[in-house]
Amino acid sequence: PAHTEKPSKVKTFLPPSQPAIFVPVDRSPEIQEARLKLPILAEEQVIMEAIKENPVVVLCGETGSGKTTQVPQFLYEAGYGSENDIIGITEPRRVAAIAMSQRVSLEMNLPQNVVSYQIRYEGNVSTETKIKFMTDGVLLKEIQKDFLLSRYRVIIIDEAHERSVYTDILIGLLSRIVPLRQKKGSPLKLIIMSATLRIEDFTENKKLFRTAPPVIKVDARQFPVTVHFNKRTPQDDYAGECFRKVCKIHRMLPSGGILVFLTGQAEVHSLCRRLRKMFPYRGKQGSKDEKDEDAQEAKALRAFKKSKPKKKVNLPKISLDNYSALPMDEGDEDREAGGDDDEEADRSDFDLDLEDAGSDEDKESDSSLPLYVLPLYSLLAPEKQAKVFRPSPSGTRLCVVATNVAETSLTIPGIKYVVDCGKVKKRFYDKITGVSSFRVDWTSQASADQRAGRAGRTDPGHCYRLYSSAVFSDFEQFSQPEITRRPVEDLVLQMKDLNIEKVVNFPFPTPPSTDALVAAEELLIALGALQEPPKTGRLRVMQSAKLSCPITPLGRTMASFPVAPRYAKMLALGKQHDCLSYVITIVAAMTVRELFEELNRPALNDEEKVILTGKKARVLQMQKIWAGQGPAQKLGDLMVMLGAVGACEYSGLTPTFCDRNGLRFKAMMEIRRLRGQLTTTVNSLCPGVSIFLDSKMQPPTESQVHYLRQIVMSGFGDHIARRIQPEELLDEKWRNGYKTPLLEDPVFIHPNSSLFRQLPDFVVFQEILETTKMYMKGVSSIEPEWIPALLPQYCHYGDPLEDPPPFYCKASGRVRCHRQSTFYRVGWQLPAVEV
Ligand code: ADP
Ligand code: MG
Repeated sequence: PAHTEKPSKVKTFLPPSQPAIFVPVDRSPEIQEARLKLPILAEEQVIMEAIKENPVVVLCGETGSGKTTQVPQFLYEAGYGSENDIIGITEPRRVAAIAMSQRVSLEMNLPQNVVSYQIRYEGNVSTETKIKFMTDGVLLKEIQKDFLLSRYRVIIIDEAHERSVYTDILIGLLSRIVPLRQKKGSPLKLIIMSATLRIEDFTENKKLFRTAPPVIKVDARQFPVTVHFNKRTPQDDYAGECFRKVCKIHRMLPSGGILVFLTGQAEVHSLCRRLRKMFPYRGKQGSKDEKDEDAQEAKALRAFKKSKPKKKVNLPKISLDNYSALPMDEGDEDREAGGDDDEEADRSDFDLDLEDAGSDEDKESDSSLPLYVLPLYSLLAPEKQAKVFRPSPSGTRLCVVATNVAETSLTIPGIKYVVDCGKVKKRFYDKITGVSSFRVDWTSQASADQRAGRAGRTDPGHCYRLYSSAVFSDFEQFSQPEITRRPVEDLVLQMKDLNIEKVVNFPFPTPPSTDALVAAEELLIALGALQEPPKTGRLRVMQSAKLSCPITPLGRTMASFPVAPRYAKMLALGKQHDCLSYVITIVAAMTVRELFEELNRPALNDEEKVILTGKKARVLQMQKIWAGQGPAQKLGDLMVMLGAVGACEYSGLTPTFCDRNGLRFKAMMEIRRLRGQLTTTVNSLCPGVSIFLDSKMQPPTESQVHYLRQIVMSGFGDHIARRIQPEELLDEKWRNGYKTPLLEDPVFIHPNSSLFRQLPDFVVFQEILETTKMYMKGVSSIEPEWIPALLPQYCHYGDPLEDPPPFYCKASGRVRCHRQSTFYRVGWQLPAVEV
């Protein structure tokens, strides 16, 4: 069969499309020199030949081999970005889209309006753009507007091994778009780029590509990396373990940069701070930067802290004196994992062991060498991120403390030592209940090896794994693709909007489970975005029918909003009651993560404790004001969001205002952009409507609040909770708890919620986050009689003539009937409504 042919021999007939031009690029000598060192440069001809001959090419190579920065340049020079054609590159992370567009623009000596980027809310794309870096979500949106992507000549899907949901879907869609473009006579080239990981999901999947695309492997000059395992795996203080390990490396081992992998922003900052204290760097620039970052750290949001059990952290005051008194930890267990270069791995001069290196006398003098500590994580401002690429000041050693972003997206030069905590922060969803939680979990073997590989870019290196080899062998081999781990209603709606009715048949590189697809279609039917399948004789609808429901006009409207279906439904309803600008604001605020700064985090020292306590009091007071008075309070947390955005916009949205009131400036900026974008979408969708962004937004009136609560309920009909009545209290722990239709266990209103003390009988919530308890977040109160009236799809109705019996109403002179109903499968009795 064709797909077993040697890749290089696969030839497909193509119209003569290759332009014979060579577009010159004016690079600086230094850049040119650096480029020539990249392994991928040697393969340029092979790569370009393959692209010329094949519609789809898979390119894999070690991180740092030059895929992301060089392939777009090869294509540009070969004339792919000429005239009106664009070369598009997708990245799963915003950081990478921005950083890489800047790097390529610099290397090519072309301005950023030619080599540009586009992420959800911002970009510098112009009519001049020839090379466009974007997030995968952005390209997916573009496919909705122009299925054939006619402006693109080439699409590069970068970091395909990360298996982000959008990347997976894009590959599925492009597998169909490429042949269509070929038929049309204007071929589109697709290049899938990946680290050397499990590419079979793309190449061996016949649903995806009938002819297996050729695979080009770029052999990176990867130097051997000696992997050292800990003998024992520390229970939870892996951050402390990282600190000790970095100290040791810095004091005992020869020069070379250190890269530490941790799981989140807060951990990164905290370790940076400890290390700076330990090995201070007092360069002019440095001290300013450090202050800067310390200030940032003080603000650093412990975004995910809630996922961890609360624990007071009392860090010992660290100085050089009492450092030496810290107990030495277990010796390292050695193991080779030099990738494909195993044979070089035991060359003795590289085979350093921490325990042997450096004698005690060295300690004092070595430790006086300053450590140039830099944080790196996705939400860090781009200017700060860029610092890791610059040489560290002379007389210092570079130490980058990073999250997963440093694993494959960004390559930091000069790293010789990697310290890997072995953990990664993941969001988990319960498929049935939708409850989500962030958990720090072990990473996969493939990821751990990627991390180790970062130490061998320029020289042989060492990787210190803070866990035992036994633990490592229990890691899953690869991380599960994201699409199998999260709800998919947004994807299903987008696909239906692209007229892909049978989503089950879509060529996913890895399909989501049927359960997840059914749950998605059920929710979309309940939201009115899909037509309800015809009921066959029996009550139960055939599953196959459920999985191929066509989209409704409402569904199409919903699909054009850049937010998940529930929020899109709210926007679609907002038009009806003159609430649109409020709904836009609420939706923008609900979809941006963590509006408020985390003030419950443990303080790092006494000084900070005082600051935090003061701030908390002030912020609580502000939140009370934003929660409104009287009926407005019933909108609960969403009213607080509305008030916060209103106040912020009114004051001109300054960092100072945000800081003083415990709001995240970045989040507020994002809300502003999203409001703008939603407003534009609404105006273009509804010809009669014209909303404008009002910086002096008045608080909603009483009747608007009433409708807003109903609108929220309509989007979150399955997220209704009912307060547990005293007679139902089976356990003291259930006090103040709520029942939801899908969970056995009670859920609670989050202590940060404005409704925490009010405990309304019925509420609607945005999500349940499991931490120490199951907490509802984003809570509003609702009235039970709205449920039978507005959410018929979730109710079972009694016979209006029977139950309760009709009665004669003197006032109106009419016979009145009531209809009794129960909610959901749980059968909660709802108040009778008049019919
Ligand atoms: P790949 O995509 O194969 O992982 P990249 O194209 O990202 O490789 O990186 C190629 C080289 O370019 C690496 O050695 C990296 O250090 C360097 N590089 C990337 N971005 C920058 C930057 N902003 N400044 C300096 N060097 C960079
Ligand atoms: Mg890359």
